[in-house]
Amino acid sequence: MTRAVLTLNAGSSSLKVALFPETGDMPLASGLADRIGPDGVLKLKDAQGVALASTGDLTTHEGAITAVMDCFRAHWPDLDLCAIGHRVVHGGAHHAKPAIVDEHLLAELERLTPFAPLHQPHNLAGIRAAMAAFPGVPQVACFDTAFHRTNPWVSDSFALPRALYDEGVRRYGFHGLSYGYIAGELARRAPHLAEGRVIVAHLGNGASMCALQNGRSMASTMGFTALDGLPMGTRCGQVDPGVLLYLMDQKGMTAAQISDLLYRQSGLLGLSGLSNDMRTLEAANTPEAAQAIEHFVFRCQREVGGLAAVLGGIDALIFCGGIGENSRAVRARICERLGWMGIDIDYGRNAANDPVISTDLARTTVMVIPTNEELVIARAARAAVGLMEDAA
Ligand code: ADP
Repeated sequence: MTRAVLTLNAGSSSLKVALFPETGDMPLASGLADRIGPDGVLKLKDAQGVALASTGDLTTHEGAITAVMDCFRAHWPDLDLCAIGHRVVHGGAHHAKPAIVDEHLLAELERLTPFAPLHQPHNLAGIRAAMAAFPGVPQVACFDTAFHRTNPWVSDSFALPRALYDEGVRRYGFHGLSYGYIAGELARRAPHLAEGRVIVAHLGNGASMCALQNGRSMASTMGFTALDGLPMGTRCGQVDPGVLLYLMDQKGMTAAQISDLLYRQSGLLGLSGLSNDMRTLEAANTPEAAQAIEHFVFRCQREVGGLAAVLGGIDALIFCGGIGENSRAVRARICERLGWMGIDIDYGRNAANDPVISTDLARTTVMVIPTNEELVIARAARAAVGLMEDAA
């Protein structure tokens, strides 16, 4: 019997999956159903990176889950799923840990949809599809917001009338699964640093930073939605709300048009007019691409400064996410501007993508830790069904 835990990360038109054994960090298989719809494609590979043959109906999330499981069952005929873990973008103000899904929780999460209209419906559709396909298997919801529930009130409030805070208009913070993983990994690799003041820069297509004190989130750059803070691939990051009023009043834009502008046409793509992808911008030779990278680096520099002020100093800066884990140039440029806070990058280590990229004498340690959100979900799912100690 191959007992395993399935992790699902459902986006609007994609489904990231991984199949983990009962214990251990290495997935048996992982992959992605992309462009779910008429042009859907499914790419799955085993632990050795060998592609697993798969076909099926990829027009819906339900079809994609069935196709994934058909493929896994063909390779592991004795497969027995113990639990399914789901990434859920919004857990609201109270969920500080993963939770086992029942109808009551689903209804509660549905009520949060207005807070994350572009993501929550897809996450919940993924859960419903998995519940229908595996009626007896426990489903565990892992929230991107949960890790930040330790933030003090000053960190999660806006200076708006209090009634809005009470109805949920507050800073939730996101990327919590990634920060949870990094906090755990730092405690394993460098316990003395994990007890101190740490800033984690999750720099990917979505980008944010989190200030940790003794492993607990104290503040982050994302707020009410995953739009705030750093500029991202196509998202704007922090913007003066007056700009939105201008777009509505003077340009007559609708909420849907503004949403499209802020989520899909801004960030690196909007600034460069070329691409949302850092690799493409680094390879491009246009002034706009160079300015887009410069803006990204500048905003990172500014946010590290702000979060360090929240923590009263900094002991370690950690890079993760596609850009943080791979772009030596962006890491170097951010660090070069932070010498005043004891950051001193070792260019050889940085070029080699070493786990520690600061010099031995630097007052502040700079590290690169590849994040692993799937593993966090798998651990939470295992814990929920008693396969391991609570990892949350
Ligand atoms: P997501 O938020 O969608 O999970 P990722 O964490 O995969 O995104 O990050 C994607 C970003 O990482 C892209 O901008 C991509 O260009 C960048 N990236 C990946 N590899 C490199 C690299 N070698 N050099 C520079 N940027 C890279």
